[in-house]
Amino acid sequence: MVPSNKKKDMSKPIPEIIYNPNSQITYRRGSYLGKGGFARCYELIDRNKTVFAGKAVAKSALLKPSNKERMAQEISIHKALSHEHIVQLYTHFEDPDYIYLILELCENRSLMELQKRRYFVTEPEARYFMYQIVYAVQYLHERLIIHRDLKLGNIFINSNMQLKVGDFGLATQLTDRDERKDTLCGTPNYIAPEMLQRKKHSFEVDIWACGCILYTFICGRPPFETSSLQETYARIKHCTFEFPSVVGCHAAEVITQLLHPEPAKRPCAIDILKFKFFTMGFTPKDIPKSCLTTVPKLD
Ligand code: ADP
Repeated sequence: MVPSNKKKDMSKPIPEIIYNPNSQITYRRGSYLGKGGFARCYELIDRNKTVFAGKAVAKSALLKPSNKERMAQEISIHKALSHEHIVQLYTHFEDPDYIYLILELCENRSLMELQKRRYFVTEPEARYFMYQIVYAVQYLHERLIIHRDLKLGNIFINSNMQLKVGDFGLATQLTDRDERKDTLCGTPNYIAPEMLQRKKHSFEVDIWACGCILYTFICGRPPFETSSLQETYARIKHCTFEFPSVVGCHAAEVITQLLHPEPAKRPCAIDILKFKFFTMGFTPKDIPKSCLTTVPKLD
């Protein structure tokens, strides 16, 4: 979830033993995994020694009705999903102080940490990652769900180096395919120009984010990054970005289409993998764990 304003965390400590009153399962709190806008995440271990990622959200952070509604929406959307490239939300429950989400554990953190260490990834790795992200996006869009905050930090990596899209804190579900949204609480990282201009938006905002992700993989930095937010927003609005000379023509072609200023001209999720970048280059079936830190030899 994305907080509307950042306050000092005054919430009570998360208990060492956490009890789910609905299933009567007890979890032991293990290592700290990280924190987001509202949530703190720990490994939670059940009696069979199965380890989950437990996301704890302090109820004190949900006093504003809009935050409470967001949380309820995140849970209701995420709970209904089951896909190999989406973090599984197994169950949720609460105690007097916290709401807990019991999630599939992704041991190798997120693509954000990978990109920070690696700077940029090879084209075969970029294809390997993008296939999985696009499959997850196809699944969501088929179900009329828009994630609205696809970014490297929300794409987690499990022990087999498989990607899992997570954090449905800004997601929304349309009632029909032609519905368009005009409100959004929170600021997506890779915000699309139509959102920035407060125009109605739909599935195309996720396609834009896929373009930003692929650009970042290949170029080592986001497409519209500058030292000033105002300048970055101006570049997004005018769709001003450049490719470093090392970028191949097939990569440039697909990124340019994904980052089309007109949402209707961006490809649908189902068409992304038809671009030459994906069909003409080598895509590994799996990648070694060493990819987290070093350039792999893939063949
Ligand atoms: P928020 O909704 O508040 O933004 P996140 O979903 O981003 O919270 O989770 C906060 C942090 O917890 C993440 O940045 C990551 O470090 C860790 N985390 C979240 N989900 C998982 C998971 N499934 N497996 C491992 N770590 C996770």
